Amino acid sequence: MSVRVLVIEDEKLVADMVRLNLEHAGFDVTCVDRGEDGIARAREAFDVIVLDWMLPGLDGIDVAKQLRREHVATPVLMLTARGDVNSRVTGLDAGADDYLAKPFAMPELVARVRALARRAGAARPLGRDIVVAAWRINPDTREARRADGSGERLNLTETELSLLAFLASHAGEVLSRADILETAWGMDRAPTERTVDNYVMRLRKLFEDDPEHPRHFLTLRGVGYRFEP
Ligand code: CA
Repeated sequence: MSVRVLVIEDEKLVADMVRLNLEHAGFDVTCVDRGEDGIARAREAFDVIVLDWMLPGLDGIDVAKQLRREHVATPVLMLTARGDVNSRVTGLDAGADDYLAKPFAMPELVARVRALARRAGAARPLGRDIVVAAWRINPDTREARRADGSGERLNLTETELSLLAFLASHAGEVLSRADILETAWGMDRAPTERTVDNYVMRLRKLFEDDPEHPRHFLTLRGVGYRFEP
């Protein structure tokens, strides 16, 4: 069973993007768009709650306070456009465990949710291993190991893992650079399509036996990329 994340966010675009990225990272995601519904659902066994500050009706601060009053111990990651120190303190005082200011990069959100789940002691694995040729990548530790007995290991960055997880969850499909940018980087960062090319090249160097003649991270000229595990 995967880690369960409750997302309380009224902006549909943000909620969809958060859901997509968390699902790609192997989480089981439930979204609600009102604080009142969030409080009702939070009584279920979620591992992490992603809570937006600005909500219609009860806002994120009200929700966080109410959850603590009800002794809901699920760690809360608060999202807000207010990045200044005072509002951060207000959020943490209300019972949030961590704080992320909008606009944020999706890999950072995923990393923080993973960290909160880990800290909360979710004993079960947080995601499925990703397999690329002879490599097995553990998304929780971001560690890749060669399964051929050589014992070779390497550690991925959060962005490398995020891109790899996205490609792996769409194995065999044709993905445009725009698809990859939108989901793996999030909508609020402005990397160029060249960034995607650079990251794919990095993945090739890490995992392909012959990066010049890739067998797993394939370029489709004029279209984008396709991943073959
Ligand atoms: Ca909002």
